[in-house]
Amino acid sequence: MSSNLELKRICQHCGKSFIARKMTTKFCSLECGQRNYKVRERINKITASNIAAKASFNNLEAIQAYAVPSVEKYFINIELLSLNTSISERTLFRLLKDHKLPRLKIGRKLLFHRETVINYLTNKYGIYFF
Ligand SMILES: [Zn+2]
Repeated sequence: MSSNLELKRICQHCGKSFIARKMTTKFCSLECGQRNYKVRERINKITASNIAAKASFNNLEAIQAYAVPSVEKYFINIELLSLNTSISERTLFRLLKDHKLPRLKIGRKLLFHRETVINYLTNKYGIYFF
């Protein structure tokens, strides 16, 4: 869109005023345009790398929150197992005489993996969940 327009403009790169012949001209010279393009490219690269770094940091946080199980989340004691299964602690202790009932004995701690215990009891007693 060339024309005989003479527009007073300020170069967006060097800040000098110049006469533009198009409405869209932003720079006083080709050199300023190229330099500004390089600056913009660098800013874009830095921004992209910052976003990537932030994303991978957030991702790491998410992995740490979900992939590394805390003992409380995945292994539970008999009291919590009782609450989770509606089976009284007394009955659970009786069931523990069945040595196949999955459990973890860590030192003096008796722990259970909830899903494993539920699966075991479901298979053994034919409890069905709907
Ligand atoms: Zn310029």
